[in-house]
Amino acid sequence: MASADESALLDRVPHGLLIGGEWVQAAESATLVVRDPSTNEVLKTIANASPEDGIRALDAAVAAADDWAATPPRQRGEILRKTWQLVQDRRDEIALLMTMEMGKPLSEALGEVAYGGEFLRWFSEEAVRITGRYGINPEGTGRTIVSQHPVGPCFFITPWNFPLAMATRKIAPALAAGCTVVIKPAELTPLTTLYIAKLFTEAGLPAGVLNVITTSTSGAVSAPIIADSRLRKLSFTGSTPVGVKLMQQAAENVLRTSMELGGNAPFLVFEDADLDAAVDGAMLAKFRNIGQACTAGNRFLVHESVAAEFSDRITERVQGLKIGRGTEPDVKIGPLINEDAVEKVDSLVKDAVSRGATVRTGGKRVDGAGSFYAPTVVTDVPRDSAILRTEIFGPVITIVPFADEDEAVRLANDTEFGLVSYAFTKDLARGQRLIERLQTGMMGLNVGVLSNAAAPFGGIKQSGVGREGGFEGIHEYLSTKYTMTPNPFA
Ligand code: NAP
Repeated sequence: MASADESALLDRVPHGLLIGGEWVQAAESATLVVRDPSTNEVLKTIANASPEDGIRALDAAVAAADDWAATPPRQRGEILRKTWQLVQDRRDEIALLMTMEMGKPLSEALGEVAYGGEFLRWFSEEAVRITGRYGINPEGTGRTIVSQHPVGPCFFITPWNFPLAMATRKIAPALAAGCTVVIKPAELTPLTTLYIAKLFTEAGLPAGVLNVITTSTSGAVSAPIIADSRLRKLSFTGSTPVGVKLMQQAAENVLRTSMELGGNAPFLVFEDADLDAAVDGAMLAKFRNIGQACTAGNRFLVHESVAAEFSDRITERVQGLKIGRGTEPDVKIGPLINEDAVEKVDSLVKDAVSRGATVRTGGKRVDGAGSFYAPTVVTDVPRDSAILRTEIFGPVITIVPFADEDEAVRLANDTEFGLVSYAFTKDLARGQRLIERLQTGMMGLNVGVLSNAAAPFGGIKQSGVGREGGFEGIHEYLSTKYTMTPNPFA
């Protein structure tokens, strides 16, 4: 049962769609329910948008687009900064809400508030740094002007695993650049997006600049928005198969797209690694967010001379992880998002075991209410196991030994994904070689967590297109215009 504080918080979360500055019901008053994955209990009933509601939200974003693009950058930045302050003031509420709807431990939810909130502050500062250039063409016959302009109305689709950060990582740069937005959070975790949308309105964001639609029919509601010729940009975070489908839809109108897709991160531990740091890094890279992060270490490739010690030390640490509802003290492993997720993780572990892998600890679901899976260490994983080719998205470490650097790099790159890699080594030259050899958009060198609002987050290969955060982030929402003018002295 939700506590009295939790119930009061849920009452403060809007239950409507945010369209044109108004909280409205869905067509025919349709609703959907949001549940707590640790108990399966209903948290709240909210509006369930239809395709027509989606188009109404796009209408509002289109209507607000010109005024918002013409709003002085400082004013846009100040609204973002004010929203960041509101997020700080309400950090405990936002963290609790995320824990309730998604299941992550409260301490991690607070970490996400800091990280996700930071995009608002970072892009409040970037709003006033949109620049262009003025030059003389090589022939000397003309003057060239390069200017940056807001892309226009954007549609965002976000996943359930980081309910705050995945929304702010898109909304903040878009608003800073002068774009208006329709956002569709995942059906499983829409409450955080509704809550922060309310903070934007409290911070003075004009009507129609940010519109929120929640729905249980994501495909049916999204397709007409993507097909609408008034839309200018689609930004998606989620799985690669859905990303591929959306890119195909976006191709019809040659839409600008940003795609933050799945991963299969290799985590390399070399014979010269600081093993204490590697074990700490592995625990963070794997068990943060209950293993449900696109950046989660998926394949732990360990030099054969230290593989046994690494496995022993990891197993001991994993056996000490407390499982439970994320609101309980010291819990490190909350529930997986739903039963399907438990089924998927369990079948991957069973497949590896059937091929000869050894379960050192865990390897089973946890009985009782909620979708819990025991934190697990699997060693001697045969290289043809599905678990090495699939994004596990659960609390399972797979350990595979390697013989030398060439083999480690070959194994690491042997995937269609290319989001992030991790490497632990004390050898500086090796570290530099790995930066050049590992085929990923991001790399943690002797660290197990790397996300930062000031850095360009994103992947290569089938992990995506585009970058979120850093100096690069705002350019996803700007289009470049080149103008030629005559030589004024001619
Ligand atoms: P998902 O199933 O692809 O869903 C992501 C979002 O897409 C949700 O809002 C979902 O809505 C929506 N969606 C699903 N099918 C759709 C369709 N046909 N048309 C329009 N929207 C559709 O992924 P997920 O399970 O939520 O998230 C996990 C995945 O996200 C993992 O692969 C993870 O690696 C990836 N991820 C990547 C990053 C990154 O930055 N690279 C960050 C976080 C997560 P409903 O759920 O309501 O159907």
